[in-house]
Amino acid sequence: MTELPGVTVCDGCDAVYRHATLRPREVARCQRCGTELARNAGEQKRRILPLTVASLILFAIANLFPIVEIELQGRRSQTTLFGAVVALTGEGMSPVALLVLATTLLFPLMQLLILFYLLVPLTRGARPPGFALLVRVLQSLRPWGMIEVFLLGVLVAIVKLSGMATVVAGPALWAFVGLTVLLTSVVSFDPRAFWEMAFTNPASELPSEPVS
Ligand SMILES: [Zn+2]
Repeated sequence: MTELPGVTVCDGCDAVYRHATLRPREVARCQRCGTELARNAGEQKRRILPLTVASLILFAIANLFPIVEIELQGRRSQTTLFGAVVALTGEGMSPVALLVLATTLLFPLMQLLILFYLLVPLTRGARPPGFALLVRVLQSLRPWGMIEVFLLGVLVAIVKLSGMATVVAGPALWAFVGLTVLLTSVVSFDPRAFWEMAFTNPASELPSEPVS
């Protein structure tokens, strides 16, 4: 989106529009080609920080506790996500281990930490150092978090194993389920809203005191 003072130029067809104030959840589209011009994130702006904090807590649980516990002929074994990655490296499947590490651990954690770093000062109306760069990094990380793919793989494995052994879902599995749901809503946060937050004074959004 090309931004000039007071106007927006459509990415699709170069039509020029004057800025309009949008009501919450309203989306402005180009009349000529339908490309999205602007969007009012509305309530999402207030919810994004609590959602990010909740995601970070679930992320910690998902990685510190065992995903599954397997009991076969009296022998018990359990594994965490990191344990599984280490096991894959031992089996000579390092590229696979690396991919699992990146898509289920590294990228989602980076996304959450960047969000947290950006949002905490933004709620006070301050722009943290590296703001523009980090918003861009956040956008490029978006397609690379694949916790839901990982979760699907784990569920398939549990169903297959349950025929041969007793499989008990560990606390991390439930945390992963919750994290998948939360992350869907966290990563769908419109990056343009960061700029909106950075350039609007939060005090002006507070309801004014009624004069009596
Ligand atoms: Zn257009």
